[in-house]
Amino acid sequence: MARPIINTDECSACGICVDVCEQTVLDIVGSSVSVVNEDACIGCGDCMEECPMGAIEDIEED
Ligand code: SF4
Ligand code: SF4
Repeated sequence: MARPIINTDECSACGICVDVCEQTVLDIVGSSVSVVNEDACIGCGDCMEECPMGAIEDIEED
């Protein structure tokens, strides 16, 4: 299992990571992005690479 670790204080809610994630793991909820479909994350890291704010700090694997 994998999931992105998001620093919501840094997130500008731009939605880039939502569009990048082909697994529809992420969505904008309120003023920042949230993990809404955690079971679908494949740990590819694309969201972390594309975030212009560095708000996705890590992809946690367990
Ligand atoms: S690591 Fe990949 S699958 Fe997981 S949320 Fe990011 S873009 Fe989506
Ligand atoms: S790409 Fe980064 S700043 Fe934009 S919504 Fe995703 S986590 Fe937030």
